[in-house]
Amino acid sequence: MNNDKNTTDFDYFNTLLVHSVGGRVGPIAPAIIPSAAFGYENAQEAEGIFAAEVNKPLYARIGNPTNAKLEGIVAKFEGGFGAIATSSGMGAISMVCTAFLNTGDELLCIGGFFGGTYSLVNETLARFGVTNSFCTVDDFAHIESTLQRGVKMVIMESVGNPSLTLPDVQRIIDLCNTYETLLMIDNTATPLLLRPLAMGADIVVHSSTKNMSGHSAALGGVAVFREVKEEGDKLLNEKYADVHKIVKKMGKKAFIPICKKRAIRDFGMTANAFGSFMTMVGLETLSLRVERINQSVEKISLLLDEKFPEGVSVNHPCLPASPDNARYKADFAQGCGPLLSIDCGTKERAFALLNKLDLVILTANIGDNRTLALHMRSTIYSDFSEEACKFLGVSDGLIRVSIGLEDPQVIAEDFLQAASSL
Ligand SMILES: *Cc1c(COP(=O)(O)O)cnc(C)c1O
Repeated sequence: MNNDKNTTDFDYFNTLLVHSVGGRVGPIAPAIIPSAAFGYENAQEAEGIFAAEVNKPLYARIGNPTNAKLEGIVAKFEGGFGAIATSSGMGAISMVCTAFLNTGDELLCIGGFFGGTYSLVNETLARFGVTNSFCTVDDFAHIESTLQRGVKMVIMESVGNPSLTLPDVQRIIDLCNTYETLLMIDNTATPLLLRPLAMGADIVVHSSTKNMSGHSAALGGVAVFREVKEEGDKLLNEKYADVHKIVKKMGKKAFIPICKKRAIRDFGMTANAFGSFMTMVGLETLSLRVERINQSVEKISLLLDEKFPEGVSVNHPCLPASPDNARYKADFAQGCGPLLSIDCGTKERAFALLNKLDLVILTANIGDNRTLALHMRSTIYSDFSEEACKFLGVSDGLIRVSIGLEDPQVIAEDFLQAASSL
C-alpha cells in the first residue's frame, strides 16, 4: 500500500474490500443473522457477556454478527481500532454526541454542514443544554480560542456539503490533539480519499447510505474509533471525567463501550442485519466507484465551466478559479467526493434547469451510482434562516449535484441542454 497520506492506492483497496466482504470457504456472501435475541450457553456465560468479558452477542440492540462483520471491514479501511454500525448517518453522529456530551458542554462546529447535523447541534442538542459555536474552516483565531476555553468536542466535515469548502484537515487535527479535545470528522463524502484516523483524528463517522453503499438500497451509518493510548490519552483529561471508569476498565477499545453503554443501549440507534448486509454488498466495489466518480466530477466540472451560458456557474474546488483550488491540489489530489454545485442565480432559474433534465434524477440523496440533483434552499434548507443559509453557502439559485457512474460526457450534456434553454 502507498503510505503517502494524500494518495489513495485504489488497487490496494479493490483487493482489500472484495476479500474482506467475501468469504473463501462456505458462503461467499456475508451471512444475514436477523435474530433480535441470542441464547446463552449457561448462567455463567450470560454474566460474562453482560460484563463484556465474553465476546458473544448479547441482544441485537447492543450488536449483531452481521453488523460486526461490517464494523470490522470499515475499521480496517479507515485505519481504525473498532467501529459501530448504526441505523443511519445521523444515528452515528447522534450516538457519538450523546455518548460524550452533557448539559453545559460546548461543541465547536467547523465549516459548512449537512442539514441534519446542523439542526441536531443547533436545535436538538441545544434543547438538552449543549451549547455550540460555528466558524468557517480557516477561522483559526476562533478555533484556537474555543479549544483553549476547554470545549468538549469538535465536529467537522471532510468536505462542506453543499458548500464544497475544503478544511486544512491536518492543522485542525493537530490543534485538537494539542488541546486534548475530541475531534469527530464526518467522512461521508470522501471514503478512501481521506483517512482522518491515520492523520490523528479520534472519531470518523459516515452515512453509509451514500458512497459506501452506492445503490440507495440501505440506510445506515458507521462510527469508527482510534485505539485508546495506554498512557496520556486525551480521554483521561479531566473534562472527560465521566468516562474515566470505562477507559480504565476497557483500555484500548474504550470508545466502543463508551458509545454502547452511554448511547446505543439507551437510544437504540442500532443498525439492522439486512441493512448491514446491503452496505457490505456496496462496499465490495467502493474503491472502483470512488476512483471512477471522482475522475468524472473533474471532467464534468471543467466541461460545464467552459460551456455553461452566461448566468449559470459551476462550483468545484478542481476549477482554477475556485478559492480552494490550491488546497484541493495539495490535499485532495484524487478528488473530494461526488459533489459539485451549480448556481443559477435565482430559484426560478434553478427550478427551470432541474425540470429540463432528462437523465439526472431529482432526489435528496448523494453518493449514488446514478447522478442526482436537488435545489437546496427549497428542500433540505427550507426551514433554515437566511443567516444560517448564508453561513452554509446555500444561495437561492443553488443546485447540488452528486455525480454517478454514467458516462461523464452524457451527464455533462444533460446539464448543458437544460441550461441552454434558460
Ligand atoms: C446524508 C448525510 C448524513 C446523514 O446520513 P443519513 O444516513 O441520511 O442519516 C450525514 N452527513 C453527511 C455529510 C451526509 O451527506
